[in-house]
Amino acid sequence: MTVRSPVVVAIDGPAGSGKSSVSKAAAVALSYAFLDTGAAYRSLAWLGLHRGVDLTDAASVVALLPTFHYTTEVEGDTLVVRVDGTDVTTAIREPRITAVVSEVARIPEVRGALTEVFRRLIRSTDRPGIVVEGRDITTVVVPDAQVRILLTASEDVRIARRSAELSPDAASTASQLRERDRRDAQVVDFLTAAPGVTTIDSTELDFGQTVQAVVDLVRTTTSPH
Ligand code: C5P
Repeated sequence: MTVRSPVVVAIDGPAGSGKSSVSKAAAVALSYAFLDTGAAYRSLAWLGLHRGVDLTDAASVVALLPTFHYTTEVEGDTLVVRVDGTDVTTAIREPRITAVVSEVARIPEVRGALTEVFRRLIRSTDRPGIVVEGRDITTVVVPDAQVRILLTASEDVRIARRSAELSPDAASTASQLRERDRRDAQVVDFLTAAPGVTTIDSTELDFGQTVQAVVDLVRTTTSPH
């Protein structure tokens, strides 16, 4: 008997590209598991703030890693995220976390440790496949994934989507989104597709069409010829 390893669908892209909701919906449509890697970086930033750590001090952030116990669990429609048993699902989406998460994500030791956690979670899935989304999934975490996607949208569309989600103050949403992308892009390039990565541009697509584009690509790539 051959043991098949799970199909890995790696999806990268900038803030507001719809990555998270599209990845989750595509995973449901395919009956695959789902891994939101940004939630881990956000959870570590949450732990740092919770413990009063100066997040600009890399050594203090690295010192958090041995005690960083992060779990995710799908409950109904929600991916429940816990740090040391505390439910942080809502807290990690707060603007105070979004404003500082890039500080944590720029530390190489943090990236190395979380990459190992992600690879372990991917290997241990009990589903036939897993959709993994983030910034460096196609290039660093699983560069040999069967399906590799860069999900983009024009900056105007991304800002409009974020404003609709978060606040009516489009000007501050725009500057925060640009600033976060600028800082994140210094660490990993998620704005250009690496060789072998398929770009899906959702500028002109609605949510359902974007999910369908991902699902279609997975089906054509993984179906036996
Ligand atoms: O995707 P999300 O907006 O939740 O990601 C939060 C932050 O986590 C990003 O702004 C980035 O700093 C970091 N991140 C990362 N690499 C990933 C996923 C997220 O650096 N694979």
